[in-house]
Amino acid sequence: MLGPVIDLHSHSTASDGSLTPADLVARAAKEGVSALALTDHDTVAGIDEALAAASSAGIRLVPGVELEISFAPGEFHLLGLELRDWKGALAATCAGLADSRHERNERIFDRMREAGIEGDYGELRDASGGVVGRPHIADWLVARKAAKNRQDAFDKYLGKHRPFWSPKTCLPLDEAVAAVKRAGGLAFVAHPMSLFVSWARLRLLFGEWKEYGVDGIEAWHPGAREGACARLEKLAREFGFRVSAGSDFHGPGRPERRLGRTAGGRKIDDAYLACLER
Ligand code: AMP
Ligand code: ZN
Ligand code: FE
Ligand code: FE
Repeated sequence: MLGPVIDLHSHSTASDGSLTPADLVARAAKEGVSALALTDHDTVAGIDEALAAASSAGIRLVPGVELEISFAPGEFHLLGLELRDWKGALAATCAGLADSRHERNERIFDRMREAGIEGDYGELRDASGGVVGRPHIADWLVARKAAKNRQDAFDKYLGKHRPFWSPKTCLPLDEAVAAVKRAGGLAFVAHPMSLFVSWARLRLLFGEWKEYGVDGIEAWHPGAREGACARLEKLAREFGFRVSAGSDFHGPGRPERRLGRTAGGRKIDDAYLACLER
């Protein structure tokens, strides 16, 4: 029998989630999640609200962040978990990332304009409550009837190397790890399958990450198959990494991501909280 469930990866309206930090925490509590990490993309702006909500709901809120790292061929995300000081240097790092994001988003709007889709990025920016990502731009394209749905917008226009795609400046791994550590947090490589590399290459990367001071691996993520997650967990433990698990919940609009559940719909046992022990 599984005990209480936890969830070490989620998003709010501070980035591209659809629930406010307070609503996200209330929903997690209602669904029996006893500990939730808020890990918004490139921002720590939702943490205070989430902490207050978690204190009323009687659950544990793990202050976190998700930073994008420069990498090819796939996507490299680094989670900072159990942050202790998210108002100092880390907030400044996030502000810098927000600037690069705005510049990238302006370039995406330039490309759309060249393709005959007129729009003002400033309006989208003002309308959104926080970090503006490609998912927001995808929704904007859907509202303009330039795409059928969010996924269609990514497949046609916004995915990597598609016509409106434009790279954004990301942090090198050493700087991101340092930023997380300065904030008193633990650094975890998120959903390694999204790096899009072979298992042989992944093994080499695990060795490199260890030297960079990465603390752990998010082995369990709904974007991967259960078999791959189990294999990641085994490899991570072999290297002496901490092992985390999350849902990457973005709100009720994405039913394949459920709070407290990970790959294959599997519940996240609270034994995974051990990865945060100091
Ligand atoms: P951004 O950080 O603004 O570049 O947006 C990245 C986010 O867009 C990711 O975290 C995913 O949620 C989403 N995303 C990226 N590529 C795709 C894709 N090919 N299909 C669907 N969503 C995607
Ligand atoms: Zn996201
Ligand atoms: Fe991610
Ligand atoms: Fe995420």
